[in-house]
Amino acid sequence: MTPAGMCYVSTRGNAAPVTVSGAIADGLAPDGGLYVPESLPRVDPTGVDPDADLAAFAPRLLAPFFSGDRLAAALEAICAEAFTFPAPLRLLAGNEGRILELFYGPTAAFKDFGARFLAACLRRLPGPGGGPLTILVATSGDTGAAVAAAFHRLPGMRVCILYPEGRVSPRQAHLLGCFGENVQALGVAGGFDDCQRLVKRALGDAELRSCVALTSANSISLGRLLPQTVYFARAALQHRRARGAPLNAIVPTGNLGNALACNWARAAGFPIGRIHLACNANAVLPDFFAGAPYVPRPGTATLANAMDVGAPGNFERLRHASRDDAALRAAFGAGSVEDAAIRAVVRRRACTQGEIFCPHTATAVHELERLRAAGDETHWTVVATAHPAKFDDVIEPLIGRRIDVPSALAALLRRPAQNEPLAPDYAALRALLLAASSSSPALE
Ligand SMILES: *Cc1c(COP(=O)(O)O)cnc(C)c1O
Repeated sequence: MTPAGMCYVSTRGNAAPVTVSGAIADGLAPDGGLYVPESLPRVDPTGVDPDADLAAFAPRLLAPFFSGDRLAAALEAICAEAFTFPAPLRLLAGNEGRILELFYGPTAAFKDFGARFLAACLRRLPGPGGGPLTILVATSGDTGAAVAAAFHRLPGMRVCILYPEGRVSPRQAHLLGCFGENVQALGVAGGFDDCQRLVKRALGDAELRSCVALTSANSISLGRLLPQTVYFARAALQHRRARGAPLNAIVPTGNLGNALACNWARAAGFPIGRIHLACNANAVLPDFFAGAPYVPRPGTATLANAMDVGAPGNFERLRHASRDDAALRAAFGAGSVEDAAIRAVVRRRACTQGEIFCPHTATAVHELERLRAAGDETHWTVVATAHPAKFDDVIEPLIGRRIDVPSALAALLRRPAQNEPLAPDYAALRALLLAASSSSPALE
């Protein structure tokens, strides 16, 4: 039966349609696909105040996505809990474009928006009854910390984070392990794609799921994607007021969640023009947008580690929206940036303009410079996805000075951390999930 209100269907077409809380509670659709809105709603932006803070702005945009759902009545409260920090749009030094800064949350990356929104939704949904709900997360660096911070000490919730051991920055690893209590940080001997594969396997394991209540918090989760539309929509209105023109965004991209959210804000009717994906040396998306077939491949380690993704999960959502490669290629531009270029951009910008970028943001700044050099005169907005202080081990030697640490981040870095190793095989993860569910009760 099709529910009344906004319906979400699986990209693989073999799961019953659900409303938003069903999609958020499931994480992955039962047929292994990803949930997408049956059709993207149009939101009329007239009368929406671009200066309203995000918490007040968000319900206006998100209401149609929640229509017909049990969470609709709580949407304002959910937004008030999730959007507790700003996302300023400011001029870049040198006035060559703008920068949308998304790193003012507790763990200093844009992932805080999605993680907090997801937590605010999940804690309002009925629990599994009996044991805790386990949130299983694969992280290439920043997701895990944001999810840990958002779910830490939430009653009835347990968080299990899988990250590629040795491929996250020392501060990222510390942030994963510094919460403790209901948050477990597992360093996997492998890459992000191995972590993601293990998580997907567990979520698809019906027998395991009959013993352990599981959900996911990856960027494949709708509860993370939807809130990411909000800062793009608001920035687009601010940009139109300032320049009388749509916002054109260069988005540092890995699993394709943030850029997809930008695309959804555009489809919902907000003034967003071009969307350009800045990728690191993992060039599966730039190759596709340049005309090659889409071929996922193993991820390789780069300086922009939160984008070390060889099989971008959200591509399946784009593919579902259009089977036509030409239409997809018309909707996005893309470029791949090698580590040497990331280093060069970080060093040069710090030296000439005093702007310090994290390695991910630096890929977008590099793309801005490359497009300019090729004669592109678009007024671009670079999306800044993390604070450079999270990557002090990479950035400080390049710029030759210390980076000030935001106070929330500094407080987390002072806590002791307890990370544990996990073998990259499914049996080990399964045993751990089963043991954790039977031995230690959730926090009350
Ligand atoms: C996750 C992340 C990205 C990539 O975002 P996707 O939504 O996976 O494309 C870029 N930069 C930083 C700092 C991140 O943490």
